[in-house]
Amino acid sequence: MTVTASPAGGARLTTLSRSVAGSVALVTGAASGMGRATAHLLADEGVRVGVVDLDEARVGDVVAEITDVHGPDAALGVVADLGGVGACGDAVEQVTAWGGRLDILVNNAGISLVDGARVDEEDFEASWERTMAVNLTSQARLVRHALPHLEAAPAGRVVNIASTEAIVATASLAAYAASKAGVTGLTRSLAVEIGRDGLTVNCICPGPIETAMTERFPGEAKATYARRRVPMRRYGSAEEVAQMTLNLCLPASSYVNGAVIPVDGGMTVRHT
Ligand code: NAD
Repeated sequence: MTVTASPAGGARLTTLSRSVAGSVALVTGAASGMGRATAHLLADEGVRVGVVDLDEARVGDVVAEITDVHGPDAALGVVADLGGVGACGDAVEQVTAWGGRLDILVNNAGISLVDGARVDEEDFEASWERTMAVNLTSQARLVRHALPHLEAAPAGRVVNIASTEAIVATASLAAYAASKAGVTGLTRSLAVEIGRDGLTVNCICPGPIETAMTERFPGEAKATYARRRVPMRRYGSAEEVAQMTLNLCLPASSYVNGAVIPVDGGMTVRHT
């Protein structure tokens, strides 16, 4: 028996859009690694992107990379230290003044400082405070400032970047692990508080990813770690995380809310 396509004009079962074209996004930590990959991918999909980061030179580079391909109105650079009070509101204001709207907030900026139970008190206090401010508090502040714009958008999306350190743990990363577990809690609470038809809040937990953050580890050590710990036996790429972020931003992902999604090659489900 031959199965033929339904005649033109027949009812279509598929109704949800997989296009983000025409949206405006704010991506933090967009000068490097996963943030840069996300800014590029969103721009490739027709999104106008606010590239927000502390690193002024690299912000300029990423904006140039995007506008060279997609035209002068495709990206705006905003230099901001998001760990400071006031910076998050300013960043949202600059991006919305430029874009005229805000559909997508990707809370990606983060730092990883070595600390723990045995470092001296001054180092511990400084590391703890800075890590919480950048990795966790800035995400809450950005959502609060962005909320009126996200609520006005037809498909408002918040994607928070946590880490597999929110699920499993590495020694001497106490503040980092606590901040990332905080991101998962923040995501769940916001999803319950502000999630509704047309606005979702989700979170990604990347595993080991090749970026500037993991550059400090020697290549051989990374290869050994990946072989032992990651079922896929390799580090992930920044783009592989960016693609998950894009998936969560699609209008079609309209019923995904409060999810905590590992992108880790299976690392966190490995038993032996
Ligand atoms: P990266 O170092 O390449 O990029 C981080 C970016 O954040 C940099 O451009 C940096 O300038 C920016 N940033 C840092 N502090 C900032 C501040 N106060 N204000 C504004 N911008 C600031 O690192 P990445 O690996 O792409 O990290 C992106 C996110 O992914 C981070 O939240 C990180 O914790 C998380 N993460 C990384 C890995 C990994 O293996 N690389 C794994 C899990 C989670």
